[in-house]
Amino acid sequence: MAYRLRFAPSPTGALHIGGIRTALYNYLLAKQKGGRFILRIEDTDQSRYVPGAEEYILRSLAWLGIHPDEGPGIGGDFGPYRQSERLDLYREYVMKLVEEGKAYYAWDTPEELDARRQQSEDHSFRYDASIRNEMNNSLRHSAEVTAQRLQEDVPYTIRLKVEPGQSIVVTDKVRGEVVFDSSSLDDKVLFKSDGYPTYHLANVVDDHLMKITDVIRGEEWLPSTAHHVLLYRAFGWEESMPAFSPLPLILKPNGNGKLSKRDGQKFGFPVFPLAWPSDNPEQAIEGFDSYGFEPEAVVNFLALLGWNPGTEQEIFSLKELVQTFDPEKIHKAGARFDFDKALWFNQQYVHQLRYDTVAERLEQEGAALGYDLSAGDMEGAFRLLQPRVQLVKEIMPQAKYFFSEDFEMDEESIEKKWKPELSGVLEDVATALASVEPFTFEAAGAKAKEIILASGVKMGLVMPMLRAALTGTMQGPDVFAIAEVLGKDITIARIRKLAKR
Ligand code: GLU
Repeated sequence: MAYRLRFAPSPTGALHIGGIRTALYNYLLAKQKGGRFILRIEDTDQSRYVPGAEEYILRSLAWLGIHPDEGPGIGGDFGPYRQSERLDLYREYVMKLVEEGKAYYAWDTPEELDARRQQSEDHSFRYDASIRNEMNNSLRHSAEVTAQRLQEDVPYTIRLKVEPGQSIVVTDKVRGEVVFDSSSLDDKVLFKSDGYPTYHLANVVDDHLMKITDVIRGEEWLPSTAHHVLLYRAFGWEESMPAFSPLPLILKPNGNGKLSKRDGQKFGFPVFPLAWPSDNPEQAIEGFDSYGFEPEAVVNFLALLGWNPGTEQEIFSLKELVQTFDPEKIHKAGARFDFDKALWFNQQYVHQLRYDTVAERLEQEGAALGYDLSAGDMEGAFRLLQPRVQLVKEIMPQAKYFFSEDFEMDEESIEKKWKPELSGVLEDVATALASVEPFTFEAAGAKAKEIILASGVKMGLVMPMLRAALTGTMQGPDVFAIAEVLGKDITIARIRKLAKR
């Protein structure tokens, strides 16, 4: 049977990285099995609908390279892929259940239900077999009353009639079997008075009609799965029920509870894939993109948040993940979100980047910093700073001395380490470098060391000053590698300038 997996987000705001992980795992299994990855927009809760959220989801997946084979705007044989465009289908299916006595009309108003809740002990009211005959529904009233109310368009919901005393076994690839007793389940609302299905009905009908074979989703949906099994039974679809794999929670960095959408602001790191700008700074959202992450690193990091192949390997391309992913190795325990680890992953990817893939970004950032880009060697600067950063955007702020004579000098450190005899050696090094041709880092380095050794001044004294002369600070890439990128004339001029202080 062809594997078909879906990602079924609700467009209720920016998609949290937990959602991205869910999409990724479904994508990986679909691709590994030569199957299809489907995007379905679950927009049946009108009160939580946020304009722009669907577009955000599509852009996030595109940024990460997780491309759906079917979905809204993409097409496919099982559409439409937006639940709000499938309302007639849900009505048709729920009516079958009503006709077969497996679901029923309920006219209880929200106020009446609230009042029941208030009356019940510790508000534990549950609309189930034990009380359904006291409630305002078509099980209690005669067929005539029901017919009349339908004719008068009295607003109704449709509830699933859960028969108590059944055992419901949910088998999944992570936890094995989880058994539920139907006596503890309520008569879930399947269809709402606004003409929309609830999540439960729409999700089950769509998974069935879209021939979904495997469902990988957050473990918070595990309790709902019991109702879903009952729905599959009620429809007679139990044979073709998908296989379920619950994903562990993503926990806060300290391990205390679930990582929430607000934790990004609280801890100062992104928990969303893409930035979501807003005129109100309180509501503007930072994304892994705006923070400066490479999408490949985000994919790699998320893939290992709740799963690993059981080997030491940590760096995986999307292609390797497709080959290696195994839902049976999904962890049961929550996965702690470790932002330093995310940065570490990004660093590994930054180290591998080819210049031509980032040249444009670096140029834009350099221009924004006011650098005269024609004055320096961008590629050379990139090569030297690349191994020293975790994010590409950290490169240009450190690169000023490649493009300008106006970089800041760390006067304090220079003052501390300065010795009068340095003037002469620096001057001699500058003079000697003039004859080095071609001006490579090996040749310049060899020449300078020769002069320093002959001078009798300690190498450990001169080298930091050479670096300070070229860059303004005493830390940074190899001095002579910098010299080569700067070129002979600039190198000599800067060394002379410091020699004359
Ligand atoms: N629409 C649900 C959500 O937003 C989908 C859950 C599921 O995958 O069944 O998470």
